[in-house]
Amino acid sequence: MHTKFHTFIFVLFHFVVSVVAVNAFAADVRDIRVAQQEGVTRLVFELSDASEHRIFPLSNPERIVLDISGVDLNNSVVNGLSALSSDVLMRVRYAKRENGVRFVLDLAQKAKAKSTVLAANGTYGPRILVELEYGVQKPVTVVKSLANLSKEKRDIVIAIDPGHGGKDPGALGQYSVREKDVVLSIGKELASRINAVDGFKAVLTRSTDTFLQLRDRSRVAREANADLMISIHADAFTKSSARGASVWALSLSGKSSEMGRWLAQQENSADLVGGISLDDKDQLLAEVLLDMSMNSTIQMSLNIGKSVLGEMKGVAVLHKDSVQQAGFVVLKSPDIPSILIETGFVSNKTEAKNLSSRTYRVKLAESISKGVIEYFTRNAPDGTLVAWKQKKHSDYVYIVNKGDTLSEIARRNQVSLPVLRQANNLSNDVIWIGQKLVIPAG
Ligand SMILES: [Zn+2]
Repeated sequence: MHTKFHTFIFVLFHFVVSVVAVNAFAADVRDIRVAQQEGVTRLVFELSDASEHRIFPLSNPERIVLDISGVDLNNSVVNGLSALSSDVLMRVRYAKRENGVRFVLDLAQKAKAKSTVLAANGTYGPRILVELEYGVQKPVTVVKSLANLSKEKRDIVIAIDPGHGGKDPGALGQYSVREKDVVLSIGKELASRINAVDGFKAVLTRSTDTFLQLRDRSRVAREANADLMISIHADAFTKSSARGASVWALSLSGKSSEMGRWLAQQENSADLVGGISLDDKDQLLAEVLLDMSMNSTIQMSLNIGKSVLGEMKGVAVLHKDSVQQAGFVVLKSPDIPSILIETGFVSNKTEAKNLSSRTYRVKLAESISKGVIEYFTRNAPDGTLVAWKQKKHSDYVYIVNKGDTLSEIARRNQVSLPVLRQANNLSNDVIWIGQKLVIPAG
């Protein structure tokens, strides 16, 4: 028995050594997202590969421990950890262990914790969803993705998705106007206008006449860490009198107007052309769980849509002057606000003529771009160049994080080291975690 035990220890040890020798675990924690809804905080730990985990609570003080085995943490996740919090979640700490990573979720109050494993799908890697339930709180919009926070002074990324393409022509209209051509042209014009603005970057889901499945469209947005996805369409209706542009956001309630249901049906069926139905029932549970940030994302989508509509009304006749909601599949990215723009009806003679004119399409793209830029200038996400420029007009206080050095903080904030020392009455470069540093205005 005794000998056996030693053999076992040896084998285990040997195994550990060989794992360390290749200097990496099989999987990485790619991103951690936090969202808060009424009485529930949800954390999603997205991995590069499926891994075992366990979760248990500790008291005095209240905390939840999550051990994920066989994974490593990359630096962007480590650097962003301090930004993750909610009403109940005070902070997330981590410790690298021999067999993986231990996360400790420090809580402001006792909460019931449970975890669920979500398999990888087309958009996301395998995920561990941790739900913290702690009674009813007021809903707050909190959606933070480490992938978005990791880069400082990053561009605000707008994913532009011209609908249809390739073997899927979309709506066919008067004067042989095809939806796929019109929306590609508007999309490209929009991208070049957004790229022309400092601090903004556009990515197109397609820039040629190719067919894309819906899931590939949102994958482009997600891989680019997009702050917004804009799908561009033009429709045809059975009555040629139907006219006007409209802006749509996702509806979770299933409540939408008759026109909304009809449009959603038209646009959603596009994927069937590729032979894959998105009405996959098994996918449903994962999707529902993934909806963690849907409510706040939808609210943001509605606000962006409103800003866009405000500019579009100077160019196009509007079908409805407020943002409409319906169940468009292409808008179902849980952490990326998304709007769908119906630029007009190609089944209407006037609008088909308008949409086939380059001058009109450029004007329309300009107005959409204006609405988007205006919204994100007013609501610049943390860590973006646009936010940084606005902050630069006044001094602000930076709280020192683990691993920070004074020279690095100076470099990141584009102030010289002597200026930073002087602003904080420092005689040397020793700083400590939690120290408040004044960053002088540039
Ligand atoms: Zn369409």
